[in-house]
This record gives sequence, C-alpha cells and structure tokens, in this order.
Amino acid sequence: MSAIADNIKYFHSTLPPQVRLIAISKTKSKEEILDAYNAGQRIFGENKVQELLPKYEELPKDIEWHFIGHLQTNKVRNIASFINFIHSVDSYKLLAEINSEAKKHNRIIPCLLEMFIAKEETKYGLDLDEAKAILENPDFFELKNIRIAGLMGMATYTDDMEHVRKEYRYLSEIFLAVKQQYFSSYPEFKELSMGMSGDYPVAIENGSTMIRVGSLIFGERIY
Ligand SMILES: *Cc1c(COP(=O)(O)O)cnc(C)c1O
Repeated sequence: MSAIADNIKYFHSTLPPQVRLIAISKTKSKEEILDAYNAGQRIFGENKVQELLPKYEELPKDIEWHFIGHLQTNKVRNIASFINFIHSVDSYKLLAEINSEAKKHNRIIPCLLEMFIAKEETKYGLDLDEAKAILENPDFFELKNIRIAGLMGMATYTDDMEHVRKEYRYLSEIFLAVKQQYFSSYPEFKELSMGMSGDYPVAIENGSTMIRVGSLIFGERIY
C-alpha cells in the first residue's frame, strides 16, 4: 500500500466522528489523488480554479470537491455546476455571484464565511463586523441558491501552539456568537472549517468539524 493510502487510513481510523477530512490536493497529481481515493477518501480540496477543472473532468465523479482558496467573482461560473462546498467566501459580492451562478444550474451551493483570525497580513478573510454586514445585507435572504453552512479560518503559520490555540478558540467563539445571533433556527449552520497539517489536533480540540489537510497526506508540496 502507498504512503498516501496509509495516511488516509490513519486519518479515517482516528478522527472523531464529527470531524470530516478534506484532503487538500493542490499541486498533487491525479495519480496521487487516486491513491487517496482508492483508500476511501472522497472529499478533496483545491485552491485554484484552473487546477481544479482538469482534475474534476478526469477523476471519478463521486468525488466531492471543496474550494478553499481565494475565489475571484469572474471564475465562479467555471465551477458552479459541480463544486460541493466553498470555504472561502470573503465578500457579499462573491456570495451574490455564487448564488446567481448556482441558480443557472438549479443548485444550492453550501458556503462558509472565511474569517480573519491570524496575526498575518497575508491572510484573507473577514472580521466580525464585516461578516455581520454580509448577513445583515437587505438582499441576503433573496440568495436562495447559497446556504451559509458555517465559518472557516486559518491560524498563523507558527510552531507556537499556544498562539494557534488562542486563534482557534477565538474562531469557535465567533462561530457560536454568529450561530446564536443569525442562525438559531437553521441547524445547517454547523460547520467550522479549521485545522491544517501542522495544527489540526488543536483545531479539533476547539470544535473543528472540517480539517483541511494536505502535506501530512500527500507529502510536502513542491512548487
Ligand atoms: C494548502 C492549504 C491547506 C493545507 O495545508 P497543509 O499544511 O499542507 O495541510 C489548508 N487550507 C488552505 C486554505 C490551504 O490553502
């Protein structure tokens, strides 16, 4: 069995039942993805539309594709027919565009609001006021072809797990506050996408329901 298959089996046998593994396959080949697929993995995440499209075309159709990267509004139409989950919504404009493209395909696309929680200027995401502004937009309830399923966040890239823990704890507090204020009668607001190869145990401790793991499954990425 390949190392990739071993890694998938390890995650599947050790993750708590409320946590789903999103195998982040960016920069990895179709053969590597198939290794993971054949070990039972069905959910994969990509961060570039132009890389995702050929993988979607050529790999098995029962793969659930999640988009995890910065998404430009003009690229939404390329993925709207098949994307299963968008983790990285960071503006009302993007949400409205996902809605209108999803409508053309008669689909409802689950989305997460990406929150800025790290002490790094390079990371995308919303602060709490910006997220509230999206949810309070007067036209929000007309968006029938998207569903806000929860929040996503990326912690600071550091070995300091105490620091990471504070950021994930903060995100889980925001998650509960947003759920209470806006989604108290919407049980489908339930996902907290946080945790990567270097910090996923800390994310799970703090309530993650989706971990996005790349290098621990597929090995280091070579760009
Ligand atoms: C690349 C990436 C990951 C996975 O990173 P690893 O450290 O390889 O697990 C998770 N989330 C996002 C948004 C990414 O871009």
